[in-house]
Parts: sequence; structure tokens; C-alpha cells
Amino acid sequence: MHWRTDRQRELVGAIADLGPAMKQRAERYDREASFPYENFADLRDAGFLALCVPESHGGLGGDYATYGLVAEELGRHCGSTALAFNMHTATCLLAGQIGDELALPGPDRELLETRRKRLFEGIVEDHTVHAQPFSEGRSPEATRGFATTATPVDGGYLVTGRKIFASLSTSADIHNVACMVEGDPRVRLLGVEAGAEGLVVSGEWDPLGMRGTISRNLEMTDVFVPAENEWLPSGMFNLMAKRWPHFYMTLSFAYLGVMAAIIDFTGDYLSGAVDGVDRSGHPQKQHLWTEIQLRHEQARALAYQAMHDAGPDPDGAAIRRALTSMITTMEGAPDMASAAIQACGGRSLLKPLPLERLYRDARCGATMLPWSVEVCRQRLGAYGLAAQHGGEQGA
Ligand SMILES: Cc1cc2nc3c(=O)[nH]c(=O)nc-3n(C[C@H](O)[C@H](O)[C@H](O)COP(=O)(O)OP(=O)(O)OC[C@H]3O[C@@H](n4cnc5c(N)ncnc54)[C@H](O)[C@@H]3O)c2cc1C
Repeated sequence: MHWRTDRQRELVGAIADLGPAMKQRAERYDREASFPYENFADLRDAGFLALCVPESHGGLGGDYATYGLVAEELGRHCGSTALAFNMHTATCLLAGQIGDELALPGPDRELLETRRKRLFEGIVEDHTVHAQPFSEGRSPEATRGFATTATPVDGGYLVTGRKIFASLSTSADIHNVACMVEGDPRVRLLGVEAGAEGLVVSGEWDPLGMRGTISRNLEMTDVFVPAENEWLPSGMFNLMAKRWPHFYMTLSFAYLGVMAAIIDFTGDYLSGAVDGVDRSGHPQKQHLWTEIQLRHEQARALAYQAMHDAGPDPDGAAIRRALTSMITTMEGAPDMASAAIQACGGRSLLKPLPLERLYRDARCGATMLPWSVEVCRQRLGAYGLAAQHGGEQGA
């Protein structure tokens, strides 16, 4: 059983019902490096764009754990769809559950209420799709400041800068850009509207994996963003980074789904369900199948624990588990895919069978910031040790 509530079971079940059609389309999105529009239409029609919009705002009211379970099921059918859906839903979690749980002071709370009413209305009524381009390719600062600037002007801001790997670059209606006002250390989350003057999508998109995300560059030169599109009160993003660090884990659940897809395929292939050749009796293959299942169950157990640990001000043990979960999933997924190729053999590598795509998709996760595998390893390596010497344990 993958869920803890009936509601979670129902929502994961709804994705499972959409899954076979998504799985069938995944090969084309990967081959063409095209955006999964049909899958997003299915998600929209089933109400999932509003998965983490509170019920009081007309959404499905899913919390962080529910999102994680839904993302896992989506990733099982199409990794690119799950990863793109993460970018959309993360903004809802930030403005919704996380905003509530940070218990902001009165005026900030009121501002958040006003801003998110507009954000959620757009999603529920107009099916607005959001993206979340944070990355700028400035490695050392990736978890701290941003070079993209927001200059206050009458009625809003002028945003200038460059984002790399902006998933949904050509399909989102609004790009929620992390940026800074000069001289102010607070990160702003500003909704840059697609088609706004001064916004250009640039660069080729022909990557190894997760090819349906269309994560090209966003070049912004004095793009006007109305003040109402500043979704969070200034300073809330920084508070999230410090007090609600599980936010940075959300994308790993898409990769947990890719792991599940590897399990599905390998089990079927070894049992003969794919090409009628039963390979299940070979001890060598059974040994590899054991390894594959171990990696999956270990990653899943940790991820589920982390989903339920998520909340404000996690203790040291919960942060450690979150970092461990990230490493276990993001390293485990490509390792599992590699072992699956070894177990299934050469013919399993041939397109249109999905294994080689799963292998390529799985490899992308470890590089994703701000909690890339290296960052997580570095933090975990310093964790208990730095604390004993009175060091800071920032998330
Ligand atoms: C398919 C895909 C979709 C993406 N979508 C989005 C998106 O929608 N929004 C978004 O904001 N970003 C997105 N990213 C970008 C991602 O989060 C990273 O920012 C990006 O992969 C980093 O690329 P880089 O060349 O700058 O790598 P670098 O930053 O140079 O990193 C190279 C390696 O160094 C490690 N590293 C980097 N900084 C540190 C550090 N401070 N300490 C220790 N190790 C470090 C990294 O783990 C990585 O393995 C996406 C990436 C991929 C692959």
C-alpha cells in the first residue's frame, strides 16, 4: 500500500487510470523532445493542475505527501511529465501549505492571502500552468542568492537576467522566477508572463534525458511584472529555505516514479510478458532482480518517511533523512536502470522499448540543484560533525 489516507488512494488511483495513455505517449515525447501537452490536458481535465491548491480555493487540497505519491505514480508512466508537473505544483505548495505552516506575521499573512487568491484562481478557473525557473548556472551560489534582478517601478518590477534549464520554457503561462532587488537579501518569486515584452526563450534543447520538459533558457531584459504577480511576501522564500527545507525534495518523487517504471519493465521482461521469452529461471538474472528491488524499496521507504517528515522546522534527524533520501533516489535510479539493462540483456536496449529512455531520464536527477547529489553528500558529510563544533546547519 502506497498511501495513508483514502483521499491519497483515490488521487493516486486517478493517475494510475491516466497512466497507460501517458506511458504510450512517452516514447514520442522523448524521440521528438516535445512537451507532453496531451498529458497536461489529461491532468487539467482531471483537476490535477489544482492538486495542491487548498479546497477552500477550489482545488483538490493535496498536501506535500499527497503530492509526492501522485508525482511518483506520474513518473511511473512518463518521467518528463512528472518532472514538469513538479515545477507547476511546487509553486502551489509554496503559496499554500508551506505559507500556512510558516505562520507568517499578520501583514505578511494578509499579503499572502491576497496574492495566492489570484494565483489559485488562475489555476482553478483558467487552468494557468506555472513553471519554476530558479537555476542560473552559478554553481557556488545556487542555494543562496540569484543574479536575476527585479527593479521596483510603478505598479511592479522590471526583471532582467537569464535562467537556464527552465522546464516548460515554451508551454508555461507563467514563469515564477527567483530574483533579487539590488541591496536587499530577500529572494523574490515573481510571475513573469509568457509572451511578455523583453522575454526570449533561447538555446537548443537536445539533452540526454527528461527530454519532454523542454528546459531551454529564459532571457529577460526589463520584463515588466505586475506587483500582484509577486506570489509571496518578500522574505518568505528565505524563510522556506531555512525552515521548510523539504521543499527542495519535491522533484525526487518524479524520479522515484522512474524507479517504479524500471521495476515494472524489468519484471515484465524477465517474466516473458514483453516478448514471450521467459528469462525468470536464470539465477544470474534473479540475483540482479534482487538488487534492483532492494534499491527501489530502500529509496521508497526513505522517500515515504521524508514525505511524512516534511513540515516546518524539521529536527536534525529529519533533515538527515531528507538528504539521505535525495541521494538514495537520485543515485539509485540510474544504478537500477543500469542493473536492469544488465539483467534484461541487449534486446531490452532497443527502442521503442522504454528501458534505455528510463536509463537516460534517471541519470538527470543527480545534477538537479539546489539539492543535487553532491550538495546533499556535502551537507550530510558535515552534518553531525559540524553540529558538535557549534557550526550552523542551514538547510
Ligand atoms: C531535465 C532538467 C530539468 C530542469 N528543470 C529545471 C527547472 O525547471 N528549474 C530550475 O531552476 N532548474 C532546472 N534544472 C536545472 C538543475 O536544477 C541544475 O541547476 C542544473 O542541472 C545545473 O547545471 P550546471 O551546468 O549549472 O551544473 P553545475 O551547477 O555546474 O553543477 C555541476 C555539478 O556540480 C554540483 N554542484 C553544483 N553546485 C554545487 C555546490 N554548491 N556544492 C556542491 N556541488 C555542487 C552539481 O551537483 C552538479 O553535479 C533542470 C535540470 C535538468 C537536467
